[in-house]
Order: sequence, then C-alpha cells, then structure tokens
Amino acid sequence: MESKLTSVFYPSGYKCLICGCEIDGGNFEFCNKCFKTLPQIVGKTCVKCGEPICSDSELCLFCKKEMPSFTKCFAPFTFSPPITNLIYRLKYNGEKFVAKTLSNLLLKFFMEQNVDVDIVIPVPLHLKREAERKFNQSELLAQSFKEHGFNVDVTCVVRTKNTTTQTALSKQLRKQNMEEAFKVLVKSKVKNKNVLLIDDVYTTGATFNSLSNTLKKCGAKNVYGLSLAHTKMEDIVKS
Ligand SMILES: [Zn+2]
Ligand SMILES: [Zn+2]
Repeated sequence: MESKLTSVFYPSGYKCLICGCEIDGGNFEFCNKCFKTLPQIVGKTCVKCGEPICSDSELCLFCKKEMPSFTKCFAPFTFSPPITNLIYRLKYNGEKFVAKTLSNLLLKFFMEQNVDVDIVIPVPLHLKREAERKFNQSELLAQSFKEHGFNVDVTCVVRTKNTTTQTALSKQLRKQNMEEAFKVLVKSKVKNKNVLLIDDVYTTGATFNSLSNTLKKCGAKNVYGLSLAHTKMEDIVKS
C-alpha cells in the first residue's frame, strides 16, 4: 500500500532509528524496511476521536456513549510496535533525538488533514513531572510545527494537578483523575481561536477531553487533538 505520508529528505549517513542500519537517504530517519513496519492507521476511523472502526457508523462506541468535548482528534499510527518502542525511548530513556523524526511525521500527517489552527499547544506536564523528566515530550513533538511557522505556545496553559500515572486506571477513573487538571493562564490567547493540542499517545481521550473542556470554558472555538499514536479500544478493554 502506498504510504499516505510525504516527507522531508534525510541524506545518506543517518542511521535508522529502529534497526540502526545506515540509511540510503530517505524521507525519515528510518530505513525503507523499517518504515514499512510503522503501524499506520488506514481505513475508516471515528469522525470524532480517530478510533479505527469497521462498522457503517460514523462514531465509535465510546463517542456514541458519551460525546467528547473536543472537536476532533487524529493520529497517524496505532499504539503498537515499533512506535511504542520509539515513544518509550523518548519518554523514559531520555533519547530526545528520536523526537525530531516523530515530529516530522506528525507535521506531515497534520498537513494532510486540512485543518486551520490559530494556536498549537503541546499538552503540558505538571512542573514536578517535567522537572523529573527534564523535558516535555509533547513540546519536542511540536518542534517541527514551530519550525514551519505555527504559533506554538508553551506558556498559556499549565497542568495544575500532578495526576498519578494513568496506565493502570480504567476509563472512568482516568476521567475523574483528569478533571480540572489544567488551567489557562492567558485566556485572550485561546478565546475565539482554533486550538490544536499535541500529545504523544491518545489512550482514552481523557487528557484531550479535560483540556478541551477547560479551553472551551475560556471561549476557544474549536479544539483539535493530535497524537502520534492512538490506542485501540480493544487494547483498552483488554487491559
Ligand atoms: Zn531500519
Ligand atoms: Zn470515537
């Protein structure tokens, strides 16, 4: 299948981020073989949250049950290997250089969506968490957007709740955990604006939903959520 993703060019000499072989010059820091293994989302997705669906419905079961606050969320990949490994290396292994190609992939994908945005906000970490990790992975994933002239803002929203790690929580608990977790410091920056949020992984949508609620209370027109990887509902139900 033809890749949906167009891209910038990396000359030869770069090493593939996945297998380490020297790339022959290419669109991303991946060799052709590894590029083909990226878990691209193809086919029909929920018009609201981006969940892959196979029914005739426009909405997935989650969104049908409870309509999210955000306008629309999208992601180029499912949360599966080798994307999971790359995200892990970035977040927990401090391999910040991985973010550059991931950010490029995200930008190229976003450019194909034909969505107008006025401001791009990487989902903030709580200051304590950011101090531990020493960086915010979402900010790194927004780097290419900044370089392409998008209005990337990392100061107007803060995370006020240092939420415990969400991995082990159910969808309902994640939602409670995320309630009023964010605060908008400069409301004029989002009022009547189309906002694009950037995060690494979409799990249950609780983070985007909470942030969207907060932004909409401050008058944001549309809130879009872009993540690198979307966790499939069947994987959440299993866990
Ligand atoms: Zn490779
Ligand atoms: Zn949905």
